[in-house]
Amino acid sequence: MLGLAPNPLDWLIASAAYPWLALVLGLCVGSFLNVVIHRLPLMMEREWTAQCAELRGEVAPDHAPLNLSQPRSRCPACGQAIRALQNIPLLSFLWLRGRCAACSARISWRYPLVELFCGLATAYCALHFGFSFAAAAAMLFVWLMIAATGIDFDTQLLPDSITLPLLWLGLLVNLIGGPVDLRSAVIGAMAGYLFLWSVYWMFRLVTGKEGMGYGDFKLLAAIGAWTGWQMLPLVVLLSSAIGAVVGISLIVFHKHGREVPIPFGPYLAGAGLIALFWGPALTQRYLALVL
Ligand SMILES: [Zn+2]
Repeated sequence: MLGLAPNPLDWLIASAAYPWLALVLGLCVGSFLNVVIHRLPLMMEREWTAQCAELRGEVAPDHAPLNLSQPRSRCPACGQAIRALQNIPLLSFLWLRGRCAACSARISWRYPLVELFCGLATAYCALHFGFSFAAAAAMLFVWLMIAATGIDFDTQLLPDSITLPLLWLGLLVNLIGGPVDLRSAVIGAMAGYLFLWSVYWMFRLVTGKEGMGYGDFKLLAAIGAWTGWQMLPLVVLLSSAIGAVVGISLIVFHKHGREVPIPFGPYLAGAGLIALFWGPALTQRYLALVL
């Protein structure tokens, strides 16, 4: 408007800078998520060991402190601390050509991939939802999903410290004006948990085996809290379909033993992301097709 100094926020929204800033933010968060994926299971393991020792009346083993900020990241091969300049998301990996600066040991491709995916998904939240509360909420959802997926992939565990906050946050976001109404969110959380819980018990009664873990129920409950119960059929169908394709190809092509458990969390998380971005459109098309 004439006569008014341009508001920096308006400039940000109107300019093309917003998705690019979201991309940079996503890359940095992705770098932090790599730390979370690596350390959170170690921190949980230490806690369990300490608790077991306490129950047995023994002294807990004394470790150097380990949390998400300490100690600084090190090269797993030579133990050299990674300097700030070598820790720039994506760029450092390309600059160092995927090798440690000190000992030239190969750095896993997973780190830059997690950063890149996180960056692109965050930028997509910005493009898809615009400059809005929904975009910020979607970014948070994406980040927590990436952490949960990475940890489940590595350890077959879905930590409560991720799935439960994800669930409460979904309810909170929808309480204060999120993508679905609170009623749908609450029913979504309960139905998500109950559905997989029932599948688990039926499978267990029929086969005597455990097909999945409690973390999977909590993850689907969290997805239901974010997307509403209306998206649950889509999430279950998509995750089972992708899971079946990946599982069968692993068994066929990699001689992956049938008995080796395949984590279900990554498929749930992937389907949850699809439901968040394209769920309403997909459901509408599907209903138009069958009705
Ligand atoms: Zn090294």
